[in-house]
Amino acid sequence: MKVLFLAAEAAPLVKVGGLADVAGSLPPALASLGHDVRLMIPGYGAIDWARFRPRPAGAFDIPHAGGSERGRIWETESDVPVWLLTGPPIPTDRGIYSDSLAEDARRFLFFSLGALSACRALDFRPDVIHANDWHTGPAVYRLATTRGADPFFRDTASVFTIHNLPYTGRGAGPYLAQYGLAASPALALLPDWARDSMLGLGLVSADVLTTVSPTYAREIRTPEGGNGLDATLSARGDRLHGVLNGIDVAAWNPATDAVLASRFDSTTIPARAANRAALVEEAGLSPDPKAFLLGMVSRLDSQKGFDIALPVLSGWLESGGQLVALGSGDPAIETALAELELRFPGRASVRLRFDPPYSRRIYGGADGILIPSRYEPCGLTQMLAMRYGAVPIARRTGGLADTIVDVGDPGGTGILFDGYDPVSLAHALDRALRVYADPKSWIELQRRGMEKDFSWDRSAAEYEALYGDAMRFRGAAAV
Ligand code: ADP
Repeated sequence: MKVLFLAAEAAPLVKVGGLADVAGSLPPALASLGHDVRLMIPGYGAIDWARFRPRPAGAFDIPHAGGSERGRIWETESDVPVWLLTGPPIPTDRGIYSDSLAEDARRFLFFSLGALSACRALDFRPDVIHANDWHTGPAVYRLATTRGADPFFRDTASVFTIHNLPYTGRGAGPYLAQYGLAASPALALLPDWARDSMLGLGLVSADVLTTVSPTYAREIRTPEGGNGLDATLSARGDRLHGVLNGIDVAAWNPATDAVLASRFDSTTIPARAANRAALVEEAGLSPDPKAFLLGMVSRLDSQKGFDIALPVLSGWLESGGQLVALGSGDPAIETALAELELRFPGRASVRLRFDPPYSRRIYGGADGILIPSRYEPCGLTQMLAMRYGAVPIARRTGGLADTIVDVGDPGGTGILFDGYDPVSLAHALDRALRVYADPKSWIELQRRGMEKDFSWDRSAAEYEALYGDAMRFRGAAAV
């Protein structure tokens, strides 16, 4: 299959968040299944052009507000061939996203329409365009609304993946008009406020919709999880699937990780004890081999459940537990965590910064990792923790529910709790302590987690099947 993969960011070229990891990992995994995949992102100035040495590959004009804007495609390689689009709305300075809808809407409309123009200019006729998040919704919509009369794209299908539902690019109406995107009857599937949202265009017109876990795919169809789009997503429910993200199992491998004091795999878990001891020392905690060393690695955001965790953590520390936390974000959460460290010297250690090597040492040394998220579309933390032998203690929501098997069930890999409240969280910690008290059961829990397959290969095979569905459904979309 020929696949064009569209995203606003892709590692290692340009990365702001998790979308870049997906766009950096999934296209190569699809290519290794034998598909001809092109990855396309905006050609920001923030990309290291000297390192990637893009070559000019084509140019075209995109109609805009009675005139036109010149787009240029530059080609480079990063596991798969990469197309970079430059042109007037794409920033040449360090900018990637701006704070202004006017700028971002223009930037990503130009990118979306440029994607279709690039295929034509480079004579790459995709079987599937896989577009991601609101930035690329207009590409899907333009394809759906024009392909019937366009021999070049007549057989092209679309898949649209939601990574971050609350970001909708709403209020883009004036810019949609400037780029000639006309309203279609399908927009009636959207609530009023979303009819000029760039996400909404993708939601109503893609042949297949996906999000990043099966449970989240169900949750966003409910009023509690749907951000006002639940009715739209329910109406398109037969096209909506959840596909879990993977992790880069080569980059995240405790058997080869150079930042760990001791390397280990699922057959040598006792060697992990040296990492625990090194972490205790690095974090400035009092050595206490019998204490349960609980880790947290997280953005400090209301999504991540600190409001239910903080009231419980004092009790945890008072009753002999230890805590090593790494995170940055909301100042109120930062302050509350810093206070824990002050109140419990030697038992709580808090680092308020973004520090990937330290995160690896936490995953590779802590006994458990607490993830009490309010919602979690997929979540990587729990997969990284399991891969590194730290047992996740997590709320049963979104991708956490899909990747962690509760210790009470066959093949258990972690501890899950349901209620979003401190009592449920405290109960989960008690359950963890009970299993921890029996070293044989604990090591089995660790081993099963370490042996789970979180590779992108598994996700890529699922996307491959959905691309087939999209090609079969093509044209039967609501547009
Ligand atoms: P989200 O994308 O909502 O933040 P995920 O669980 O999907 O949550 O991904 C979080 C990723 O960011 C994980 O790889 C985690 O290890 C990493 N991370 C979060 N906070 C930090 C930090 N302070 N330092 C280093 N890595 C962090």
